[in-house]
Amino acid sequence: MHTPPQDLELGDRLTQEEIEQAFDTGFGYRISGINPRRDHNNNRYLLIFANEDGPYSDSVRQGQFEYIGEGLRGDQNEDSPGNSVLIDAILADFPVYFFYKRQDRTGWEYQGEIDVQSYRREEQGGREVLIFTMQHRDPSDAEDCGLYLIPVNDEWRDRFRNSVEEPHDLRQYGELPSQLEGIARLRMWGTTETDAQKKRSAIDKMEPDDYVLFYYQGRFFCGGIVSRTFENADVGKLLWNNPESRHLFTIDEFTYNVPGVDRVWTLLGYDGRQVVQGFTRVADERAVSVRQEHGSLASVLFASEPTISEVEDQKSKLKKAVEQAPELTEDETQYVETRRRARDRAFTELIREAYDNTCAVCGCQRESPSGNPEVEAAHIYPVSEGGRNDVRNGIALCKFHHWAFDTGWLSVTDSHEIMVTEAPDKNGHYEFKQLEGQSLHLPDDAELYPHLLFLEQHWAIHGFER
Ligand SMILES: [Zn+2]
Repeated sequence: MHTPPQDLELGDRLTQEEIEQAFDTGFGYRISGINPRRDHNNNRYLLIFANEDGPYSDSVRQGQFEYIGEGLRGDQNEDSPGNSVLIDAILADFPVYFFYKRQDRTGWEYQGEIDVQSYRREEQGGREVLIFTMQHRDPSDAEDCGLYLIPVNDEWRDRFRNSVEEPHDLRQYGELPSQLEGIARLRMWGTTETDAQKKRSAIDKMEPDDYVLFYYQGRFFCGGIVSRTFENADVGKLLWNNPESRHLFTIDEFTYNVPGVDRVWTLLGYDGRQVVQGFTRVADERAVSVRQEHGSLASVLFASEPTISEVEDQKSKLKKAVEQAPELTEDETQYVETRRRARDRAFTELIREAYDNTCAVCGCQRESPSGNPEVEAAHIYPVSEGGRNDVRNGIALCKFHHWAFDTGWLSVTDSHEIMVTEAPDKNGHYEFKQLEGQSLHLPDDAELYPHLLFLEQHWAIHGFER
């Protein structure tokens, strides 16, 4: 084998067979987990695989991430073949190659070499697991990737909708230029060349895997990753009746989930507000510094917020979960960052809906001037303890009573009355004492009430005796 395999590039998606070929090894029935190997010179190396569907994974595509050791049942063991090599890798200097598979994708994405930094034992789902902290190797030596800020003006807004937001349907055209033959639909945009040297060099530098953010009326509203670039005046004429638009690029991973203007300027280290003026390639050193700080451009540009449909999807799962007996902690399946955020958001929205934006303790329904409810979705058994995002582990509380609940001033009995901690020498005690014995403002649907399973944990944490 080659160390590192010369024909592998970061982001390549490979089948099991291709990985076996690249490393000249075999995985038997199915690739999984931690695979200690030796090359032809008897040098040790390690292949690690993480599946989005778990039990491994986290936000594993950039920067630092956590990886759960091997062993699916019972306590995990430092002596198992995979775990012991992973522990060795913390101190020893042998290469660890990392592959990651997204649920909605085929193939294993090659993520390059990573460093295993440390590990700890942790109770999770009623057993002990080994949690390894890993770090992607400094990506600065990887190839540059460009970031483009591209304004869409009023004149072109409609065409943008039909070419990028809605993938362009190429089947409506009789004859297609060779670059587009055989493609049914794609997202494509183009630009004209100008005399401005800056723009021309920006166009020339654009290549696959560059990032694009589109800007309209003062804000970034969508973006994606360039999948191919080419020059063809016929296409500009064909698609937009504008042969001037002959510098073309196609867009993959299209998303509306892009950060606001302020966030982009902060990320890029611009001082103060900037206005996007024409087709712009961000200075490479700025893009590289974002990547060094955050691991990848994609993680900060596109993965910051879950989409509405992801949140809706998680909401329907959480709603459905109420039909089953609750479980205290999240199961082994871990979520990648975006899905985790989608689930958190879904939990918050469901709790607010269930409690009609009303603090369960005081009944207030404050709103911001723009109409956002103040109430927060408190976890009864905290997330920091592994507490599950289950509606029955939640309770809507105003900021003040959320604080009082989380710090242990308040808890809730199994018949949903307020309990107060006896700490008469502490400021606040008198005030909270007035609430004792009052009934909570609860959801209409009794299925959504705080569940004893979680309440018992809150009592135990804060020393309430029931
Ligand atoms: Zn309140």
